[in-house]
Amino acid sequence: MVVVKKQKTEDRDRNETMRLSAQPHAKKTGAAQSRRRVTILGSTGSVGCQTLDLIERAPEKYQMVALTANKNVGKLAEQARLLKPELAVIADESQYLALKDALAGTRIAVAAGAQAVVEAAEADSDWVMSAIVGAAGLPGTFAAARRGATIAFANKETLVCAGPLMMKLVAECGATLLPVDSEHNAIWQVFDFERREAIARLILTASGGPFRTATREAMSRMTPEQAVKHPVWSMGAKISIDSATLMNKALEVIEAHFLFAMPPEKIDVVVHPQSIIHSMVEYEDGSVLAQMGTPDMRTPIGYTLAWPERMATPAAKLDLAKIGQMTFEAPDPVKFPALRFACEAMRRGGTASAVMSAANEVAVQAFLDKRIGFLDIERIVEATLNALPAATLTDLDVLRDADQTARRFANEQISKN
Ligand code: NDP
Repeated sequence: MVVVKKQKTEDRDRNETMRLSAQPHAKKTGAAQSRRRVTILGSTGSVGCQTLDLIERAPEKYQMVALTANKNVGKLAEQARLLKPELAVIADESQYLALKDALAGTRIAVAAGAQAVVEAAEADSDWVMSAIVGAAGLPGTFAAARRGATIAFANKETLVCAGPLMMKLVAECGATLLPVDSEHNAIWQVFDFERREAIARLILTASGGPFRTATREAMSRMTPEQAVKHPVWSMGAKISIDSATLMNKALEVIEAHFLFAMPPEKIDVVVHPQSIIHSMVEYEDGSVLAQMGTPDMRTPIGYTLAWPERMATPAAKLDLAKIGQMTFEAPDPVKFPALRFACEAMRRGGTASAVMSAANEVAVQAFLDKRIGFLDIERIVEATLNALPAATLTDLDVLRDADQTARRFANEQISKN
């Protein structure tokens, strides 16, 4: 990871920015520049819609290059008619005609298929929001990195599955990753990139999810409807289930390991149900720097959208007196074994974390489809992780094989259920 020097302005000292390339990007982000050209991969999802909400509030600053979705033609067409991108892409090819019809009479180019999503990422934009969910987000994120783009990075599965490959590509191609996940965005804001040797520990906060106080017995009976009801954050279905199992935190530990080049033993998790402190960095002198705010994804998204400036967002302002109390507790390793899986996957290295993530995606979908119970998710992930040997992660073909094998194995476990 390469980091920019502190940028001093006349009136303030800007935060460090996470630069993963040696080439300055400031030329594209200066205030005197014309509108920032923006692409959103996964525009119809929770992160995608919140990104568009911010853009709609400042249309004079942004020009839409491409929007992509998987199946949701109605929402994609509505967004495209409003924001007039040059290109709208639907990944599901069977929806091509529906999208073409919905955008008839506009000048918006229409395309369909997984390759078209990659081409949307390749289109000439200054800033790409990577907000497709799951491993499906990898090809677009890789394509954007390959052309040296600035990437607002929400799709954590890219680093979980392909961390070493992604970070190498980012360095080689002069791309920039701006962390969107609230925890990583918080760490970025308080991470002293010039004195990283003085950093003792990253402390990721976790809300604990909807089942923090539930018994294992009660958890075994939880339905998808109960599991997606996150007590604090409003998010897509997959990440909501991942929050309920704490797999989301497990994925985030791996994401932090690669993003900040920190060894696993220097990354801790603390449960903080109010989700006011979004994460912390502890320094060797005992100082702990935290970033706080009300739990609203538009704050971290806005930080990446306006970077290296800041922008106003509609997130409620923090009123600590009203909140009154902030509490903290250690994660319960018996109730929530996912963090142990992440440690094991990082210890094994290679394709192990991709195997874990693929098995988790399959199991979460099966739970959402009511084919398995809530606690079967962890059982399937653990069985897959233990059964499949980790291969050396030399390239994306090795990754693809590992991903497919893990999905096949996890599906077999589900059919035996
Ligand atoms: P959602 O499920 O809400 O949205 C996912 C988006 O990806 C949708 O636009 C969906 O299209 C699209 N998509 C799904 N599958 C495919 C596919 N096979 N090919 C192309 N596009 C696809 O997810 P979230 O917005 O919640 O999360 C997105 C990413 O951001 C995840 O990696 C998540 O972990 C991360 N993240 C999310 C946060 C949140 O608050 N939601 C916070 C931090 C990180 P369609 O609508 O047509 O299905």
